[in-house]
Amino acid sequence: MTGLPSLPVSKVKGIGEEKEKELNALHIHSVNDLLEYYPYRYEDYVVKDVTELEHDERGTIQGVVQSEPSVQYFGRKKSRVTVRVLTNGVLVKAVFFNRPFVKQQIKNGDELTITGKIDKNRLQMTVQDYKKGSQASDASLEPVYSVGGKVTVKQLRGFIRTAYRQFGDLIEDNLPPLFLDRYKLPSKKNTLFHIHHPKDREALKHARRRIIYEEFLLFQLKMQMFKRIQRMAREGIVHTFEQKEVDEFINKLPFPLTGAQNRVTAEILEDLQSPYSMNRLLQGDVGSGKTVVAAIAMFTAFLSGYQSALMVPTEILAEQHYRSLQELLEPAGLSIALLTGSTKTKSRREINEALKSKEIQIVIGTHALIQEGVEFSSLGLVITDEQHRFGVMQRRALKEKGKTPDVLFMTATPIPRTLAISVYGDMDVSVIDEMPAGRKPIETYWAKPHMLERVLGFVQKEVDQGRQAYVICPLIEESDKLDVQNVIEVHGMLKDFYQGYEVGLLHGRLSNEEKEEVMAGFDRNEIQILVSTTVVEVGVNVPNATMMVIYDAERFGLAQLHQLRGRVGRGEHQSYCILIADPKSETGKERMRIMTETNDGFVLSEEDLKLRGPGDFFGQKQSGMPEFKMADVVHDYRALEVARNDAAKLVNSNEFWKEEQFSPLRLFLEQEGVLDGEKLD
Ligand code: ADP
Ligand code: MG
Repeated sequence: MTGLPSLPVSKVKGIGEEKEKELNALHIHSVNDLLEYYPYRYEDYVVKDVTELEHDERGTIQGVVQSEPSVQYFGRKKSRVTVRVLTNGVLVKAVFFNRPFVKQQIKNGDELTITGKIDKNRLQMTVQDYKKGSQASDASLEPVYSVGGKVTVKQLRGFIRTAYRQFGDLIEDNLPPLFLDRYKLPSKKNTLFHIHHPKDREALKHARRRIIYEEFLLFQLKMQMFKRIQRMAREGIVHTFEQKEVDEFINKLPFPLTGAQNRVTAEILEDLQSPYSMNRLLQGDVGSGKTVVAAIAMFTAFLSGYQSALMVPTEILAEQHYRSLQELLEPAGLSIALLTGSTKTKSRREINEALKSKEIQIVIGTHALIQEGVEFSSLGLVITDEQHRFGVMQRRALKEKGKTPDVLFMTATPIPRTLAISVYGDMDVSVIDEMPAGRKPIETYWAKPHMLERVLGFVQKEVDQGRQAYVICPLIEESDKLDVQNVIEVHGMLKDFYQGYEVGLLHGRLSNEEKEEVMAGFDRNEIQILVSTTVVEVGVNVPNATMMVIYDAERFGLAQLHQLRGRVGRGEHQSYCILIADPKSETGKERMRIMTETNDGFVLSEEDLKLRGPGDFFGQKQSGMPEFKMADVVHDYRALEVARNDAAKLVNSNEFWKEEQFSPLRLFLEQEGVLDGEKLD
């Protein structure tokens, strides 16, 4: 947004029909597009002393030629010109590949400025660019653009310079003076000048700062406006209930809620009471106690006469939630059902009937919940646990089982705050940032494979004291090539090792009944050591388990390691996590180090994001993950937070709708189709 009228790029002198087409291919259609086609890097032609350059670094040096150039040919097309240059007392050999004509252009005694990569061992520069004579050291940052087709970087530089000369005076600011002053940002006109022709690094820095803030602000403005409109439009159920009854229920829980649980519960109950339907993400690290919050919400929905559904990604987890929610809710007079892929046809039919007739108030299940035939009498609250495991369509399908139900998503994968802002911009977010009292931080150790025996001894000590242990192996499929521990092999080995204890085995190839049986056995402490693949990863809760051993830990990502570790440390006993790993890469080693250093899921996810980058973090490009020309959600997250706060305040303020200084922003929202000009009040 430059405030320029929308002029085709052909209005720029020197751009004819032919060039216009080529520029269009680069998505440059208007003068505006051209001016906002930012360089992706700058050539640094600042003249340096050769001693300042690192080995293999690219740089520019200056000196006097000390020899006649000599040329060598290799075959018909290849050649090499070499010449010696004395720079600040150091003799450097300059090499020009495949430019034999250079020999005619350079003479002994010439002053020469050369740019290229320096080999410090041989004191030799492979020259990319050269100029005769010496060069002043300003005007030394040359923009480099990504180009394609027949458009060259040089041409683009020229076109942009011309465009700025022709139209620069017409550029108007779209950011209000309020923000320019507050953050000391340069004007739009100034910014566009220095981003393409930086006077120096300082000017470039401020130009970049401004562009990044602007990109974030516009994006956030859209998100916040969208959220506001959505909320208004989401006419929902007004749940009516007696707070006293909810409080009584909470008081009867086996433990007092943490401060954070109390806070998020209040946020959720307020949403339930409001005339808008809830669209809320509940984030809480593993073990922070999200389930009980879900239970309170479902109980509240029950009080106001509505049914609830809780969807989870695995049967093991569904089973477990079913059991713990039964304990919490059945004494209060609710009836609860479990619906999964392995529910028998007969009981499935019965459950369906009971949901339709409202004999059942709460149903817990897997994807089975969103199948046809599952109908509710009055579904008022929909909860998905470990929501990142579900696709958008699945979450929507569950919601559509009701009429404008309130929706709560729960996740233990702490989305880095920075990403949560951009990805979940249109959701309300509640965070449980406090662990139940008395939890001891899990101690995490990284052991090399040759230390296996000591690790097993450690496990023995724990089970001897009555505790239980998980041993996780990374793969279900055997593969000869990948040297992966086979879960069955490990199970066999540990069975022999731990005489007198029951060693269980859990993996994806077991039938659901077998899996359940094993899990129930572990839960009842009939199994002391559970050898498993990652099927136990999400949500499983056995507080007496204090030991988590992870084989080949380098094969897991940080988020998954953290999830696995979260299976222990759930009770009063000190818990341990041992990562058996021999990572070869630096990133792999870094991951192990981070795991041993922090238990905080949010810190971990921020680190993970830094190691992997945002694209990778979500596995694939997630819709809603915006693309910015210059800003980077990881690197520039502070600016993103600032912009978000500014945008949120703006759309909810009266000034925004009245003051002249905000009119370019209002116009932007209209152009983006978020705002209907007429609906403005
Ligand atoms: P998550 O957030 O990972 O889903 P859970 O809901 O499974 O965590 O809770 C983990 C464990 O903590 C459970 O055993 C649960 O009963 C217990 N718990 C939850 N809230 C509290 C609390 N306020 N005080 C003590 N224990 C709690
Ligand atoms: Mg959970």
